[in-house]
Amino acid sequence: MDLAAALDCAPTGERPRFDLAAGALVGGRCADCGGTAWPARAVCHRCGGADVRLGAFSRTGTLVSCTRVMVSRPGLEAPYVLGQVRVDDGPVVFGQILGLDDTEMVPCPVTVRVDAARYWFTPDPGPDRPQDDAGLHAPTDERQN
Ligand SMILES: [Zn+2]
Repeated sequence: MDLAAALDCAPTGERPRFDLAAGALVGGRCADCGGTAWPARAVCHRCGGADVRLGAFSRTGTLVSCTRVMVSRPGLEAPYVLGQVRVDDGPVVFGQILGLDDTEMVPCPVTVRVDAARYWFTPDPGPDRPQDDAGLHAPTDERQN
């Protein structure tokens, strides 16, 4: 296995995490096995291959688990919801879920939201939900991951 390509890869902190124009997370997809990771890794966590290509993932996914956090961390006002989202064509990503009401059941469809340094997920509009982000507030923390 030739890992020399991994030595030429930018450090994790310098690789893009968001595509602001697309409103999507940018991660890595292994050209050998199709494994995905967010943030992108220099070496595939599934097969050890070094041909990992950066790209934007789908903006949609499925919330597969969540928990309500009652003790806040700096920059976030408790209570808030954290969850695991299986991005439709990407990995499972851990992040904040905004706009999830107490009656929501998992799994449920969600959409990823990004801005310059943050990401979060919102449940997809349903028949009883507003069609926009009115009333939702982005996290104030600089980074969640
Ligand atoms: Zn792989």
